[in-house]
Amino acid sequence: MTTPNWNLALQDLPTRCDVLVVGAGPSGSACAKLLAEAGKQVVLVDAQAFPRDKVCGDGLVPDTHAALQRLGLLDAVLERARAAKTAHCVAPSGGAIDVPGALAVLPRRELDAILCAAAVKASAVMAAPVRFDAPLRHASGRVTGALLSQSGQTRAVQAHWLVLASGAAPATLLAAGVCERRTPSSMALRAYVRHTGTSLNSLHFVWHASLHGGYGWVFPGPGHSFNIGVGVMASAREAAGSNGKRPQNLRSLFETFVEVDPLARQLWRDGEHLSELKGAPLRCDLDGSLWTTPGLLVVGDAAGATYSFTGEGIGKAMETGIAAAECLIAGGDDPAIAAAYTTRLHALKPRFDMYRKAASFNRHPWLLSLLVWRAKGSPRMIARFADILGERRMPGTLLSWRGVRALFRG
Ligand SMILES: Cc1cc2nc3c(=O)[nH]c(=O)nc-3n(C[C@H](O)[C@H](O)[C@H](O)COP(=O)(O)OP(=O)(O)OC[C@H]3O[C@@H](n4cnc5c(N)ncnc54)[C@H](O)[C@@H]3O)c2cc1C
Repeated sequence: MTTPNWNLALQDLPTRCDVLVVGAGPSGSACAKLLAEAGKQVVLVDAQAFPRDKVCGDGLVPDTHAALQRLGLLDAVLERARAAKTAHCVAPSGGAIDVPGALAVLPRRELDAILCAAAVKASAVMAAPVRFDAPLRHASGRVTGALLSQSGQTRAVQAHWLVLASGAAPATLLAAGVCERRTPSSMALRAYVRHTGTSLNSLHFVWHASLHGGYGWVFPGPGHSFNIGVGVMASAREAAGSNGKRPQNLRSLFETFVEVDPLARQLWRDGEHLSELKGAPLRCDLDGSLWTTPGLLVVGDAAGATYSFTGEGIGKAMETGIAAAECLIAGGDDPAIAAAYTTRLHALKPRFDMYRKAASFNRHPWLLSLLVWRAKGSPRMIARFADILGERRMPGTLLSWRGVRALFRG
């Protein structure tokens, strides 16, 4: 494959375009690709030169497959990814269930490169490393582009629309005046190891009482590599602090995980360590920022498009990027585009609400154990979980307090 022309210099950017997309992660690249294919003049910028690493579990769950299919990139991704058959969910009691689904693992360095290259191939003009510093505004307050910078140089790029796809760090949201909450919803941390003697055909999720409201994972990647990590909701950290306990330090949570989970322990102890432990924030629940202001749409993690409880957000990042592109392609005046995009995000809300409720279960380990215990003997419940994972049905009440009460009634 020839190297895509994705690291243009700031001065090579046009001073005008139809849509300026800030951030070339899954949300930004998905959005840029569709817009460029529809004939829009798209400028895509990222603060990091490509290809770049992104701290992530690298797990591709069914919504990611669906979004990649929509983008015409599923085969290219699956060719390089490691496929998995089930989500193996271990409850605090040690009981486990296997939920089948279309699952795979591909390091983000590769996944994001495929997406970004596709956007550039579709004729988006990409410059990196280039930072978004501030929006340009009309006297009315409407956003009309952005001030960008590279190594002390700045350039104003006028755009009919600005799409913020800048991920979970709040700086860009603050600069654009759309940040409603600085703190992330959650923090997570991961490392890569290689271990040739272990074979794993599932995404391994662990909820354990000693992870105090957090969760751990082991995901098998290509070439005998494994992504091992832990995550914790900010609310669980705060709750620990308000109870007089020290809020969990992510590194010590990771150490606990590799002690209590036999698979993680074996890989961490005997495997070849391929990377440092690295952490990053997540923004969840479609919450914490405005989704749109005149001339501006916010997509992906920047819009809170990552699920609580599991920390999965790549699929929804692409979905929101796709939604933004489709709304811009459909066109209309500012209110019409904003309303169309808001409607698309509202349609996703019930799923986000379910994962938010499920995350509250983290503080009640016995409840998770009960749920897994009930599901273990029930192919019907496993099928329901598979339908939820595959997004073939709305969540209903299964992962809610009402659902739990129903479990007690049998
Ligand atoms: C440890 C961890 C594990 C996770 N595991 C999974 C998982 O297994 N599966 C899953 O589906 N999700 C997972 N997630 C969530 C997933 O990483 C995010 O949902 C996803 O990356 C969001 O994509 P995005 O395009 O919105 O943002 P990002 O992928 O974060 O991309 C944002 C881009 O914007 C750029 N940027 C930021 N600020 C600026 C600026 N001022 N100017 C220019 N560019 C800028 C950044 O350089 C970056 O490239 C995990 C997250 C973490 C932290």
